Amino acid sequence: MCEEMVSSVAMYYRPILTHLISIRGATFRKEFGQLGEVRSLLGKGVQIMALTTRRSICHTLGMNRPAIFASLPNKPNIKYVVHAKSSSIEESFSQLVEDVRRLRTAYDRTIVFCRSYNDCAQIFIFVKKRLGKEYTEPVGAPDLALLRLVDMFNACTLPAVKNSIIQQFTDPNSCLRVVVATIAFGMGLDCPNVRRVVHWGVPEDIESYLQETGRAGRDGQPALAILYYGGIDMSSVNIQDEMKDYCKLNKCRRNFLLKDFDGDDDVDIPVVTDCSCCDICSESCKCIACEDINDKSFY
Ligand SMILES: [Zn+2]
Ligand SMILES: [Zn+2]
Repeated sequence: MCEEMVSSVAMYYRPILTHLISIRGATFRKEFGQLGEVRSLLGKGVQIMALTTRRSICHTLGMNRPAIFASLPNKPNIKYVVHAKSSSIEESFSQLVEDVRRLRTAYDRTIVFCRSYNDCAQIFIFVKKRLGKEYTEPVGAPDLALLRLVDMFNACTLPAVKNSIIQQFTDPNSCLRVVVATIAFGMGLDCPNVRRVVHWGVPEDIESYLQETGRAGRDGQPALAILYYGGIDMSSVNIQDEMKDYCKLNKCRRNFLLKDFDGDDDVDIPVVTDCSCCDICSESCKCIACEDINDKSFY
């Protein structure tokens, strides 16, 4: 960065607000990861406020003994559930198809996040085919975007179609119930009544997982975060070990997510004491809701 730019940054941005360094700096936008260099050029006296999800940002920015104001991203209304991908897409999503068929526009708003375009297309095509004429509302209506119960959103989706899907999904009166998507969907999405976020495949790290599942239950009502993992996820070098450990846990998942997020063993995790916490906490519960949930593969 040239000196002129550095001095204009110093002049106009006091304090400098930054975010997205920890994750985006490593992958998506490498320039974020180089902000530490910019800081070193600014000299002393320029205050920095770093808004982030991870303490590693302090190292990246070369901050010395910063004042930290931390808040855990705990959403007590989200229940965490994990399934091994022991079955095919067809088997795993049959329950969703049956429920959409039965409940139609009363089906809870659901996002299915996929790791690849291929998975996204495969799941969407399966659901669409299986629903047949019931894919649109009312049954047998033409295949128009405004009449679909299920849609697909990924990097290949045209911008106008993307906008239309976002608009449908956030409109309380629209037909759209399920969006099968890559993680491009949901950035800046403000849809309060998403009841389920399903991950078909494991996100790369815990921050991403917490951020993506945070799109569920923004209205404070009960919501589900369901993660499917397979052997390919467990052997992937792109997926952090903590996320792999999360899939194989035999103790409370919420506790693990929040402890890892904070990185401090002494932190007080706000506990959810009943079975609405996670599938592991449900296992030891005998209430009717848990017995029911444990019976169904999808939920
Ligand atoms: Zn739990
Ligand atoms: Zn229970």
